[in-house]
Amino acid sequence: MAVVGPSRHSRVSMSVSMSLMQGGGAGATGGGGTTGAHPGQAVLAAAAQAPPTYYHPAAPAPPPPPPAQDPVQPDRPIGYGAFGVVWAVTDPRDGRRVALKKLPNVFLSLVSSKRVFRELKMLCFFKHENVLSALDILQPPHLDFFQEIYVITELLQSDLHKIIVMSMNLKKQTDSITFFVLGIARGLKYLHSARILHRDIKPGNLLVNSNCVLKICDFGLARVEEPDQNKHMTQEVVTQYYRAPEILMGARHYTAAVDVWSVGCIFGELLRRRILFQAQSPVQQLELITELLGTPTLEDMRYACEGARSHMLRRAPKPPSLTALYTLSSQATHEAVHLLCQMLVFDPDKRITVVDALAHPYLDEGRLRYHSCMCTCCYTTSAGMRQYTVEFEPATSHPFDDLWERKLTTVQQVKEEMHKFIAEQLNTSRVPLCINPQSAAFKSFAR
Ligand SMILES: [Zn+2]
Repeated sequence: MAVVGPSRHSRVSMSVSMSLMQGGGAGATGGGGTTGAHPGQAVLAAAAQAPPTYYHPAAPAPPPPPPAQDPVQPDRPIGYGAFGVVWAVTDPRDGRRVALKKLPNVFLSLVSSKRVFRELKMLCFFKHENVLSALDILQPPHLDFFQEIYVITELLQSDLHKIIVMSMNLKKQTDSITFFVLGIARGLKYLHSARILHRDIKPGNLLVNSNCVLKICDFGLARVEEPDQNKHMTQEVVTQYYRAPEILMGARHYTAAVDVWSVGCIFGELLRRRILFQAQSPVQQLELITELLGTPTLEDMRYACEGARSHMLRRAPKPPSLTALYTLSSQATHEAVHLLCQMLVFDPDKRITVVDALAHPYLDEGRLRYHSCMCTCCYTTSAGMRQYTVEFEPATSHPFDDLWERKLTTVQQVKEEMHKFIAEQLNTSRVPLCINPQSAAFKSFAR
């Protein structure tokens, strides 16, 4: 199967095995089948000339890429998100398998174009092992023909949703829960230090490679935190099962604590091998939460809207039943439940932060394993001594800036700025990439 990037250090024995990854991994090669694969069908081509000779849709097709080394892996779709489609493709410059994400319909409205620009800037900003970032952006056509954007990222084999679903039937349960929770918390510490709220943390947005290293992806709903509590934030965020109670109760303003709630739900799901709060509606979602945590106090509900608060007060009070967490699985140890209980706190101000969660002893074992052989921040000397980094969970050196958003007031402005931004990113020594218009695969990709 395709393992993207230079092979990492020694493999760590994990019960989430390679075979499990291959079963339905996002980057699995489809059983090595090469049917219909032909180099001329490859979606990506190296641009003939460096900028400013941009590929133009009406221009003659660039020459076909050189034949890839065997086995030829067909380019194919691997995922469809709310805001685009992702393909596994081959980079013609080095034969490396990468993920190609298309951000379509960018310039339909000011809101959508600014959202895509924000996501693109974030992908180029991120530099952290547990956060997916842009490796490259495809050369855009001339500004007049600029309609969609293609971003290249690392290709990972699977995601946490697939791993949880597939391991449900395994007799031997994974011992990787600590490790996954550590990965999510490390990535979120970095995002939150950049003042970014992800707002859609869920198992499907946590990619996992064959070494079980996890990366947070899909920043379509991410934004910079709002320091002004009087400013309203959208409630149309976070997939319902992972949505924090303050959003379910109509809070107009919320914080990075919404992401921590989602981590708690995923932590519980990893232990239980089933979704923790799987309700049919937002109202029932809140019911399930209160069945576990008990009826919240008025103080706990101070961010809720009036309607949601009175609804809650009309219900018969429920006692908390947190001891039920010990029955999730045999892996729900005292330390695991202790940390989980601090993530699943109704009041966002009393919920643990990712920084404090990372200091919890439950994550010590995962941290040791990660920095013993899997991270890129520590290394082993020729004498076999492990040299550890000073900062095990790095933060950003500077927050993500979103002031530029306020200056953009028309779609045309966003378009021009985005075109300029992409050109700046392409200003490297590497040959820029473009779509191969002769590719049969591209036609289905472009739909
Ligand atoms: Zn390290």
